[in-house]
Amino acid sequence: MEALQGTWDGEKREVSVHAVSLTQLDNGAKIPPSGWKCSQCDLTTNLWLNLTDGSILCGRRFFDGSGGNDHAVEHYRKTGYPLAVKLGTITAEGKGDVYSYAEDDMVEDPYLAEHLKHFGINVQQLQKTEKSMVELELELNRRTGEWNTLQESGTELRPLHGPALTGLNNLGNSCYINSVVQVLFRMPDFVRRYVEGAPEIFSTFPEDPAN
Ligand SMILES: [Zn+2]
Repeated sequence: MEALQGTWDGEKREVSVHAVSLTQLDNGAKIPPSGWKCSQCDLTTNLWLNLTDGSILCGRRFFDGSGGNDHAVEHYRKTGYPLAVKLGTITAEGKGDVYSYAEDDMVEDPYLAEHLKHFGINVQQLQKTEKSMVELELELNRRTGEWNTLQESGTELRPLHGPALTGLNNLGNSCYINSVVQVLFRMPDFVRRYVEGAPEIFSTFPEDPAN
């Protein structure tokens, strides 16, 4: 887990292009060190502090229905204020989960401590109380029981195709594999060999192909 901190999907976070010249409004917003709530709903976890106007709003809804009510991302769509930090992930060293809506990615904000100070937050007084995005992602994958879901264990599978049946569900970090699978199944040679040829493959190959 330690090795994954500061990464997103195993990728290193880049410094946001918006960090160095970020506009911060002098609107008098002051953020207490704890006890936060979404200003649009009753959620008190999964909250994001917009670094331009100091608004506190809940995060996105995940594919399985858990998560927030999308209020932070809706705020970005209305205002264009690009950066938000997840409350509860900020450490005394001034690190935290910063998301750039404009760049559509988790990013590095080298001036995070300064940006927080604008809203009266002293990072020294903060404690990490929330799961980081990496921790959440791993937890979500575990909860989904990815292996059983992928295999559709115990279900009778029916081939389906046609309008509105394109695409594969994202089971949590499986979008990359879905795209590869869909490309493979558009290749006539692949389909001939491994789909139409499947009965022959299964009937003629030894049970333990390694030996
Ligand atoms: Zn909300």
